Parts: sequence; C-alpha cells; structure tokens
Amino acid sequence: MDRFYLLGFPISHSFSPKIYRRLFKIMGEDAEYSLLETRREELKSRISKILNDKDVRGFNLTQPLKEEIIRFNIYLTGVAREIGSVNCVKVKDGRLYGFNTDYSGFKRSIIPFLEYIKGRDAVIFGAGGASRSVIKALIDVGVGDIFVVNRTYRRALELKKVFHERIIPVKFCEAEDVVERGKFIVNATTVGLNGKDTLIKESWIDEDKILYDLIYNPKETEFLNIGRKKGAKVKNGFTMLYFQCIDNIRIWYGGERC
Ligand code: NAP
Repeated sequence: MDRFYLLGFPISHSFSPKIYRRLFKIMGEDAEYSLLETRREELKSRISKILNDKDVRGFNLTQPLKEEIIRFNIYLTGVAREIGSVNCVKVKDGRLYGFNTDYSGFKRSIIPFLEYIKGRDAVIFGAGGASRSVIKALIDVGVGDIFVVNRTYRRALELKKVFHERIIPVKFCEAEDVVERGKFIVNATTVGLNGKDTLIKESWIDEDKILYDLIYNPKETEFLNIGRKKGAKVKNGFTMLYFQCIDNIRIWYGGERC
C-alpha cells in the first residue's frame, strides 16, 4: 500500500485525509493518507523514518515546516526553489524532491476574482510559508502594490530578499491604513483556527473589499464573518486545498509539473 502523510503542527483540523481518501478511491489506488503531528524539532527524525519506509511515496508539509524542510537534503523544483517554501515532497529512490502546490492551488482558486483585483492593491497578513505562495501568485496575476503585514516585522522584511521591490513590509500598528487602501485582503496566518480570533477590525472593512482566508476549518473564521457582515466578498481556503491535493497527486503519481 502506498503511504502519504501530512506533517506539521497543529494539524488536527485538516481535511486532507478525507479529500485524499476520496480521490484515491476514484483513482483505484491502494493508498492511505494520514496526519503525523510534527513539531519543528521532530522533523529530522520523522524524515529518517519516512526514508526507511519503502511504502511512503510522498508527504505534505504545513505550519511551521515549509521553510524548515529546506535545511535538509532535498532537491527543490521550480516555484519551491524560487520562493523558498515547500508544501509537497515526492519520495523517490530514497531521495526527497520538494514542490510548491500552495502556489498553484491559490492561483487557481482566485480566478473568479481576477477581474476585480488586477491592478488593485493587496494586503497579506502573515509572512510564513503560505504567504510566500500567495505573494508569488498575486505578482503573477498582476495586482498593484502588495503590503505584507506580520506580527514579527523582521520576517516580513526578510521576504524582500525573495520578492524585492514587489512587496511592502508593514508593521502591525500600520495595518489599518493599508487595509483601508487595499482591495484584496488575505489572511495567511494561523489566527482564526480557533474560530474566534482575527487580526482585522470591523471598522477597516467595507463592501468594496474581497476577503480571503486560507483557513477552511472553521468554514467561516471571524475574519470572514466580519467581511460578510460588512457586505464584502468572502472566500475560505477550501478550494485552494482541493486544487492543491489534485496537483500533489499529479506529482506523486505522474508528471512533475508545478
Ligand atoms: P507558518 O509558516 O507557521 O506562518 C504562520 C504565520 O502566522 C506567521 O506569519 C505568524 O507570524 C502568524 N501568526 C501566528 N500566530 C499569530 C498571532 N497570534 N498573531 C499574529 N500572527 C500570528 O504557517 P503557514 O504554513 O504559512 O500557514 C498559514 C495558514 O495558512 C495556516 O492557518 C494554514 O493552515 C493555512 N494554509 C491553508 C492552505 C489551504 O490549502 N487552504 C494552504 C497553506 C496554508 P510570526 O511570523 O510573527 O510568527
């Protein structure tokens, strides 16, 4: 039986096992996808276990491991190399190959919004692994200025090394000004997973904005709840996850695009 895992912490909210179970069934593959809670300091031992199990064909990485994995002996492909973030790993002949399908999943999921966001300013909360994929996709689709707001300002500044003048790092205390200016507001932090916290205030939002939360469980975070109440367009991260799963399967079982 082929085995696949999701590594990260926290991951108990993840829908991935359910989605993959259905997709493997449709494909007629004898395969299993399981959650493997992994904190930063446990990643090394997890990887050696994975490499010792001949049935493992690949795994996904989520918070806080997408950048951490790059310290290991891994061959980085395309976008993963460009932005320094890996969420999909293919295991082949005892070697690890790193891909980024957060990028392709997010980019496909925003197709319905393209007509509204092209040339308009975007604000991204978060400067972790997922934020890098979101920034790359927003640059590719041609949004205007991209403001990156992060609790740890240094981390937002570090993204300048990858995206140069295309991003504007912003301190948390200045978030209100840029949100008021932005058309597309994205939550790429873990804030909201508990169903109650959010980094925005109701008074910052109006009906002209589009709010996108990468979180999909809960289905409607407080971030999206505020957007909906104020008449903005809102979207959660489920479609992104779904497209990402399809791309991961293509990498694990077939061609190696992305
Ligand atoms: P990550 O690399 O660990 O980054 C986490 C981000 O959240 C950092 O910017 C961190 O800020 C911020 N953060 C955490 N706690 C905070 C707090 N209390 N206040 C303010 N900021 C806080 O995680 P990731 O991999 O980028 O994932 C981010 C989120 O996107 C997660 O919820 C994940 O589940 C979701 N996601 C969804 C999909 C999908 O397919 N829908 C795909 C990828 C990710 P600091 O730098 O200050 O710590």
